[in-house]
Amino acid sequence: MTPRSLFWIPVLVRFMLVWGAGLAGWYLWDFTIGLAISFIVLTLLVIMQLQYMYQLSLWLDQPEEVRLGDGWGSWTEIFAKLYRLRRDDERSRNELAEWLSRFRQAMSQLPDGVVIMDDVLFLEWCNPVAEQHLGLSMATDKGMRVTNLVRSPEFIDYIILGRYDEPLTLKLDERRLIVRLIPFENRRQILVTHDVTDMDRIEQMRRDFIANASHELRTPLTVINGFLEIAHTQPDLDPKTRARHLALMVDQGQRMQNLVDDMLVLTRLESLDYPVREEVLDMHSLLEQVRAEGEALSAGRHKVSLEFNGPRLKGSQDELRSAIGNLVSNAVRYTPEGGEIRIRWFENEQGPCCSVSDTGIGINPEHIARLTERFYRVDKGRSRETQGTGLGLAIVKHVLVRHNAQLRIESEAGKGSTFTIQFPALARVELA
Ligand code: ADP
Repeated sequence: MTPRSLFWIPVLVRFMLVWGAGLAGWYLWDFTIGLAISFIVLTLLVIMQLQYMYQLSLWLDQPEEVRLGDGWGSWTEIFAKLYRLRRDDERSRNELAEWLSRFRQAMSQLPDGVVIMDDVLFLEWCNPVAEQHLGLSMATDKGMRVTNLVRSPEFIDYIILGRYDEPLTLKLDERRLIVRLIPFENRRQILVTHDVTDMDRIEQMRRDFIANASHELRTPLTVINGFLEIAHTQPDLDPKTRARHLALMVDQGQRMQNLVDDMLVLTRLESLDYPVREEVLDMHSLLEQVRAEGEALSAGRHKVSLEFNGPRLKGSQDELRSAIGNLVSNAVRYTPEGGEIRIRWFENEQGPCCSVSDTGIGINPEHIARLTERFYRVDKGRSRETQGTGLGLAIVKHVLVRHNAQLRIESEAGKGSTFTIQFPALARVELA
């Protein structure tokens, strides 16, 4: 049956109802009563249609709060279809909302900033990283022109000119960003920001390290070359001067050797291919060896003591011996003759500790935070005189990072210093 013929069926039913009631009234009583009954039935039908239309209009206004009911006649089908439509609509709206929330969540996890703008550069949406990079705020800036929010002339030029094929390098609040514009859906644009500040910092550190290492190696090499030149041009130099030159060359050669050794140690400590080889350490014997080495280095100029009162430890024997050895060697090298060096092994509420105290030259507070940087020295002359490489505390820091330990430095210029290694409680080993 066609939809058009379906339309006529309810019309016919209502027509028959009105006429049937009228004819029945005429037949039972008389014509006037029949006419009146027809009129009443017609009026009731019209009222019923109007009431359903009113219900429908209420429902369309507030579909959540109003119920349509089942209806009568063709209204039953209309209401059922409307309910179905609404349910489908609600389902696709829920799906869309869920998809949108997943999309936003994914965008928030991105390491790069993403900004969506319309064709007149008004902010439609941006992720939290873009908020940080460009100083935007979705809460307050949505719907505002992006070029009014990011006040950088290069940025504004770049966006207005719409240079899609080349990225912009932008310096904004101590950050260096690579900004890229991408056309999207022909009336929108996406702006992607990538922070390269850390990469720049690492590159700068690498350059500094190469410059420092070259400088450190150049000084002894210049001295050695100088003496070799003298030996070459003056073959009949007196034996005493030659012996003095040779001793100085050996000294500079040793210095280069120390430097290269320390650089190799640092490289190995930083390498992911060398995980910590953990073992249960007999700390007493390890610290006793370090103390004896300190005493040998001091050559009787200091009193070097060990106080031992702590647990066994889990860690790498070689790495910890090198780290604590560096602290003791520094204590000897930066403490004038007659001073005292104290090595202590104890335990506090956070875990096992090793401290190395001296009564040496001490360190002014402004240097303390930088001491573990490679080649950072407070007293350059003294460091070189005592064969220092400027890498000792950098090695200590790396060893401690690998052991989840921390270094505390307390010092007072002219009075002495205490370097304390704080191990985590997990590193302690209970005696069986
Ligand atoms: P270096 O080979 O120069 O000793 P380190 O990395 O071991 O290099 O130490 C860095 C700097 O920290 C040293 O040059 C020195 O100025 C300072 N320093 C380290 N330990 C001590 C200490 N116990 N007393 C005074 N200064 C120290």
